[in-house]
Amino acid sequence: MCKSAKEAVIQSNIIRLYAQFLLETDNQPLAAKALLDENEALVLSAKYAPIIAIYQSLQAKANWELGQQEKAYQQALAVSQSPAAANALEALIRANKVLFDYHSSRGNSKAALEAYIKYAEADKAYLDEVKTKTLAFQLAQHQSLEQQNKISLLDEQNKLLKVQQQLDQAQAFNNRLLIAVLFCIALGLGTWAWHSWQSQKRLRQLAEFDNLTGLFSRGHFTQVSLSAVEYAKTLNAPISCILLDVDKFKQINDSLGHATGDWALKEVARICKEQVREYEIFGRIGGEEFCLLLPECDLKHATELANAMCQALRGVDTSASGHAFVLTASFGVTDNTRAGYSLDKLMAQADKAMYSAKTQGRNQVQCYSTSQSVPSTPQETV
Ligand code: GH3
Ligand code: MG
Ligand code: MG
Repeated sequence: MCKSAKEAVIQSNIIRLYAQFLLETDNQPLAAKALLDENEALVLSAKYAPIIAIYQSLQAKANWELGQQEKAYQQALAVSQSPAAANALEALIRANKVLFDYHSSRGNSKAALEAYIKYAEADKAYLDEVKTKTLAFQLAQHQSLEQQNKISLLDEQNKLLKVQQQLDQAQAFNNRLLIAVLFCIALGLGTWAWHSWQSQKRLRQLAEFDNLTGLFSRGHFTQVSLSAVEYAKTLNAPISCILLDVDKFKQINDSLGHATGDWALKEVARICKEQVREYEIFGRIGGEEFCLLLPECDLKHATELANAMCQALRGVDTSASGHAFVLTASFGVTDNTRAGYSLDKLMAQADKAMYSAKTQGRNQVQCYSTSQSVPSTPQETV
């Protein structure tokens, strides 16, 4: 393949290396000489002086070892004197060795010494060259190693950066996840709290207010009134109570229907509420019974208010319910000068007064008085 490519220098070098092996390692000078002689023309055609010098030095050595001393001497001398040998120290060493052996064997010590000196110089130069090459090689090796180390270090740093980047990404993802989870929890808690507040509000609304009229329920009315009475007591302030009951309400229900009855109850609540001030306490305490507690209000003013309500009810236009009927109520009034600061007493006296109004013909206001006689079962008059 080398031949076809006309790479004569490479081919010559391979041949000389093999010849060198045969001659100096395998101790086969004859085989080495045959190989060298056979390829002499090829080596010369390469026209590469250092290889030619090495070739000739190997031929000289092979001839020397095969006893062809004169031929060996001539070849060694030619190499030794060749200017090209300066670039082929290996050839110079080998040739001068042959010259040294040749002159020594003939007792020509002067020439032998000269040859030996040249041999030693070439050998030293060769060793220096080898040493320099070795050093350069080691340096190159070291630099290469250093480069590799740097590359590995950079690789490691790169990997570290990638890992760091992945870690940062994972951390950012985790943070986002955490924020999302916290947001969901907050949202869930907020929704739960809102629903719970709503249902509590609804329950409170149901408990505190009468569904039909929107007034205070009996329980809530009592609770708020107790505080109001207590407060009035601490201030020694007047406080009054009005209790009203719709007249003949059963008849309305029975003759006109329950829906009309409901309408009538709402109308009573609406009309009375129009007369009531913000801080006055108004509740539906029974089916068609209502109670009004009036802080900072004495009997005189409470009676006036009850009369105003009674009159307003009397004149109500019931046609909106789909029926024309009479809607009136009986009112009982008392205050703290008669009942003291007790809600139970205030309500009981107002109730008695209200029954007194019933017995006296309904559709009227009665104030409680100790002399007032309220029958246990009042006789109703229409
Ligand atoms: P009086 O003048 O003596 O008070 O006679 P009354 O018919 O008003 O009294 P009574 O106590 O005999 O009747 C009250 C009726 O009120 C009986 C009950 O069916 C009715 N009632 C109670 N609560 C409601 C309600 O929420 N809606 C309706 N439509 N009727 C109710
Ligand atoms: Mg009643
Ligand atoms: Mg009634």
